[in-house]
Amino acid sequence: MAKNFQDLLTALQQSDKTYDIEKIEKAYQMADAAHSGQMRQSGEPYITHPLSVAVILVGLGMDTDCLCAALLHDVVEDTDITLEMIQKKFGHDVAVMVDGVTKIKKIQLTTKEEKQSENVRKMLLAMSEDIRVIIIKLADRLHNMRTLGFKNGDKQREISLETMEIYAPIAHRLGIRGVKEELEDLSLRYLDPIGYKEVEDTLALKKADREKFIEEIKKRILVRLKEYGIEPHIEGRVKSIYGIYRKVYMMGKSFEELYDIYAVRIIVNTVIECYNILGVIHDLFRPIPNRFKDYISTPKPNMYQSLHTTVIDKEGIPFEIQIRTWDMHYTAEFGIAAHWKYKAGIQGKDKLEERLAWVRHIIENQQDDGAEDIVKTIKTDLAIDDVFVFTPKGDVKSLPMGSTIIDFAYAIHTAVGNRMIGAKVDGRMVPLDYQVKTGQIVEILTSKSEGAPNRNWLSIAKTSEARNKIRAWFKKERKEENIAEGKAEFERELKRNLIHLEGEDYQKLVDGLVKRQHRENADDFYAAIGYGGIVLSRIMPRIREDYQRQQKEKALQEASTQDQQNAIRTTAPRKNSSGVIVEGIDNCLVKFAKCCNPLPGDDIIGFVTRGYGVSVHKRDCINVTAAVQDPAQAARWVNVHWADNRESSFRSTLDIVAKSAPTMLADISAALANMRVPVHEFNARELKNGNLNIIITISTQGLEHLRSIIQKLGKVSGVFSVERSGK
Ligand code: MN
Repeated sequence: MAKNFQDLLTALQQSDKTYDIEKIEKAYQMADAAHSGQMRQSGEPYITHPLSVAVILVGLGMDTDCLCAALLHDVVEDTDITLEMIQKKFGHDVAVMVDGVTKIKKIQLTTKEEKQSENVRKMLLAMSEDIRVIIIKLADRLHNMRTLGFKNGDKQREISLETMEIYAPIAHRLGIRGVKEELEDLSLRYLDPIGYKEVEDTLALKKADREKFIEEIKKRILVRLKEYGIEPHIEGRVKSIYGIYRKVYMMGKSFEELYDIYAVRIIVNTVIECYNILGVIHDLFRPIPNRFKDYISTPKPNMYQSLHTTVIDKEGIPFEIQIRTWDMHYTAEFGIAAHWKYKAGIQGKDKLEERLAWVRHIIENQQDDGAEDIVKTIKTDLAIDDVFVFTPKGDVKSLPMGSTIIDFAYAIHTAVGNRMIGAKVDGRMVPLDYQVKTGQIVEILTSKSEGAPNRNWLSIAKTSEARNKIRAWFKKERKEENIAEGKAEFERELKRNLIHLEGEDYQKLVDGLVKRQHRENADDFYAAIGYGGIVLSRIMPRIREDYQRQQKEKALQEASTQDQQNAIRTTAPRKNSSGVIVEGIDNCLVKFAKCCNPLPGDDIIGFVTRGYGVSVHKRDCINVTAAVQDPAQAARWVNVHWADNRESSFRSTLDIVAKSAPTMLADISAALANMRVPVHEFNARELKNGNLNIIITISTQGLEHLRSIIQKLGKVSGVFSVERSGK
């Protein structure tokens, strides 16, 4: 803690960097005069705070301008001194840094959730055009945390939470390990005093033992390495309280399970030595499986590099060993600040070239522009393409660079965008095409009755989210109109193309188009035509094709339905009693051709009709002998034969010639009745020669039966001939 300028001066003199002491002293004098009379809550003069911040920054190796800015970091906010005065006296860089720190201080960092914290962290980094602003801010926060005991309990917890959620992660992100661990430990002390104390006590319990243990380990390693001609720097330490706390209380591990309460660090000159030493260590102690990590070949995102391994000594106490080069060490301890502190160490290392883009960027600039200028060109890898804007309630929204009020409004909520009538930025009215900047507070003015998107918003909005939402509004709000217009246009177009469809057919056509155009329903389809989402002239050819196909299908279907019905009507009664087996077709409909009336026993053949089933003819039927010659129909003739176990009756027509006698018809009738043959038709006429011709249609059980009937009728007195007709 620096009480006066002498303390800072001592720190400067102990540093291995060269400083413009005169400039720093001038900054001190300006700050001292400005803060004169102000007190810290500790009761000390206010100037002790900027002095202490400056000392922390000397420790991080920051440069003269950064120290000047640190000494002046609270004057613009709290005193009469203006940025212009600072710029005039100390130059652009110092003024920019003081301005940056002042701006960050004005922001109310209310954090509610994890995502919000992430946005705030990004925003702080984005706001810090000069990365030294963030480093000053971290040192500022560190000193405030060190003196937090003088504030009341609520304030302590609030500030600690903010430190834990915002600043410690930033320190981690920038790789400044010392600051990160101290911020975490200090925060934890106020956020969970009991847990903190427990860890502290447990560690204190065997402090002497532990120190002895670490000394012993160091000695053993050194002795062994000396055999290999390596004389590294070794330091042993206990890990940070928060680090242990996190594992014990948040990850539920017991103290005994913690491998890394103890850590021994071995620092050497070259990467080769790192891997050599790892081999020696694994020979000396028993390594715990799966605990080896090679952060040299795969650095952490914050540039951290080291070999980590956890081993067990002969008493069974596990401890972590970290092996790294000096360059890696500086980066591990100071992160981004190492660029100011140990520039020589960072330069020209091949490994560095593989690190993150922003680090590569720094190094490239280092080689091109000279070391000191890099500061100006440093931007973090984070958030460079985004702006971070506050809602009046303190929520942070992240938007792409160049976003306007409209984008912001729609990012809050669709309804906010749709009802927007204006906006205020930092309390001033702005036009809707105003581009928001990081750190601004934006308030959207809305009206339920008057607010509505305007078509030209589409060209003002930067984000596709906002544009999509505006488009969606126009689609939805004008939907009725669009549907009516679209439907009328569609129907006009159908008429023009001579497409006449009604009822189901029309619906079918539309349904097909809805599907093909990926619309929800017919209204959507019409609406899309209405607002121009679908251009009819482009889809009409396809519609015409569809229509033609639909018509053709319909005709075919109608024909086939007709056939089906006919078939059923005609043959259903004899379907199961036909007694005919059709080769290759099961359960088909069978009817007997009227031209020849085949009987069981007759040689038969089938003809596949269109929709009337299979028509069975006698093979010697006159129609068959003619038709089988027709090659066009050849395929429709099929083999059929009589089933054996038939119970059917078959109609036969007989042609009888008999002597014309008064009892002749009665005699024939009697003969048929005696044989119990059902008679369906009985016609008689006189032939020119005076004989009678009698045509009867009867039912028989088959060819045998018919033959016997013919024989018996032939024996009736006066009958000259009985013949089966239909040949
Ligand atoms: Mn301060």
